[in-house]
Amino acid sequence: MRKRKSGSDGSGTQTRDLTRPASPDPLPFPVYDNHTHLEFEDGVDQLDPLESLALAATAGVRGVVQVGTDLETSRWSAEFAANDPRVLAAVALHPNEAPRLAAAGMLSEHLSEIARLAAAPRVRAVGETGLDFFRTGEDGRDAQYESFETHIEIAKAHGIALQIHDRDAHEEVVATLTRVGAPERTVFHCFSGDAALARICNERGWYMSFAGTMTFKNAPALREALAVARPELVLVETDAPFLTPEPLRGRPNAPYLMPHTVRRLAEVQGEPLELVCERLAANTERVYGTWDMDTDE
Ligand SMILES: [Zn+2]
Ligand SMILES: [Zn+2]
Repeated sequence: MRKRKSGSDGSGTQTRDLTRPASPDPLPFPVYDNHTHLEFEDGVDQLDPLESLALAATAGVRGVVQVGTDLETSRWSAEFAANDPRVLAAVALHPNEAPRLAAAGMLSEHLSEIARLAAAPRVRAVGETGLDFFRTGEDGRDAQYESFETHIEIAKAHGIALQIHDRDAHEEVVATLTRVGAPERTVFHCFSGDAALARICNERGWYMSFAGTMTFKNAPALREALAVARPELVLVETDAPFLTPEPLRGRPNAPYLMPHTVRRLAEVQGEPLELVCERLAANTERVYGTWDMDTDE
């Protein structure tokens, strides 16, 4: 199954270098990419999901959480995870899908199907859900709130993690989690807040997942947030095929490129790379459980 990559990380120009970057030096201890979209086409020199996972393993990225954004990709994610020991799944309707589905009268039906998919043993998160005030205007917000709140309830009902997409909506996301009650394991995917939001996450025990954006030259606030974040709440992700880390910004992204982000993260945390990798792996397993297929119920 393939979905065309849509949108842009803001770095796109006609002169983008679309060749696939070389593999970085492998990490000294294997980690997980806790948020990726293997089914999205990046439009060039496409790696299929199995090739992508094999390449990731050679770079020290031993597993991924494959994230759905609608029913089709959520079903695909759940099925893929059921059959591959390197993959766990997250299922949800993306906050930018919610208004479209509500307008078509299909939101509650699709939410019921997400609840059904969330029961599968290798579906370990509900996400990505949340609020996106960047791409959705005022008229779509009621649908976003309804969808977000239902996803929170689904995560709690199944005792699995919640992966939040928060774009230009920090205060409203925090207020919604506070009002509805956050699941025990709540993750801000592609954390985009500043040190103030990191302090709130520290207090509430919410996880902060840093993507390639943290390496961008114009993102000092993200590095300040990372420096403030309690290390045991820090996760790492690619959000591939989007958000390729420096020095490769603008080129196609995939899980095998995550070591660039991990190395920068270790620099900001001021600790040895190996120790940081061990902690990232332990944090990720604490949130999603084991990737090992033998221990599934
Ligand atoms: Zn997102
Ligand atoms: Zn995503």
